[in-house]
Amino acid sequence: MTSTETLDTTPAALEVHDVHKWYGLHRVLDGVNLTVRPGEVTVVLGPSGSGKSTLLRVINHLEKPEIGHVSVGGELIGVKRHGDRLKELSERVILTQRSRIGFVFQNFNLFPHLTVLDNVAAAPVATGKLTRPKAQELARELLGRVGLGDRTGAYPRQLSGGQQQRVAIARALALRPGIILFDEPTSALDPELVGEVLAVIKDLATSGTTLVIVTHEIGFAREVADRVVFIDGGRIVEQGPPSEVLDRPQHERTRDFLGKVL
Ligand code: ADP
Ligand code: MG
Repeated sequence: MTSTETLDTTPAALEVHDVHKWYGLHRVLDGVNLTVRPGEVTVVLGPSGSGKSTLLRVINHLEKPEIGHVSVGGELIGVKRHGDRLKELSERVILTQRSRIGFVFQNFNLFPHLTVLDNVAAAPVATGKLTRPKAQELARELLGRVGLGDRTGAYPRQLSGGQQQRVAIARALALRPGIILFDEPTSALDPELVGEVLAVIKDLATSGTTLVIVTHEIGFAREVADRVVFIDGGRIVEQGPPSEVLDRPQHERTRDFLGKVL
């Protein structure tokens, strides 16, 4: 640890501490440790089935780890300390915590029966953060930011996949999350629509939002990531700046994976 790290007392945006997760006898996460500083952009790479989605789902407590814990902005997620044990929080508190962690899914997961505007405005109203007019005002602003200011009255089915994913990003932003998790945000898109979504994510990255992005877009990782994490078999095999992990990988498994996706 360097002396600057020792002196830095601001809480990490995200801390994953020794997380183990298994389904039956199948070990999916096997001792994952990860620290993300505020404003950092972390890209997670790894083969299919390596545990990437499970890691994101553990971070916002959609899955409970068997061992270990997660903190966001210095606050434990899903559990509280009880002596030297961790005790599950109530569902209501977990929902509140989850609302501070943005999540963008591969398949957009928009509400089909709501307009684009209401898709974005719904959560701040439902959580009591904003009145409906204020939420709609915010939704308009955020939709403008993702380049959809002229489609507020449309329904998801009337939009392209790339537009739907941009709505999903605006929706994630509406709760003013401290961190946003992306799970392969462009892998369900036709190739010609990938760029517009990556451009929006890049805009967030350069404006200082803390992001954790699972993606196979290596060029994008090289451009926006402060850190690349390579995961295989539920373990972080190596991590570091893109110039190291992508250009001079130390491990055979990283080299093998990059050889297949590049
Ligand atoms: P990735 O996102 O890297 O492709 P996942 O985290 O989705 O990997 O899955 C990791 C492993 O865990 C896979 O072998 C998958 O089949 C298994 N898995 C994921 N979710 C469940 C579940 N709910 N029940 C049982 N096995 C699961
Ligand atoms: Mg996945």
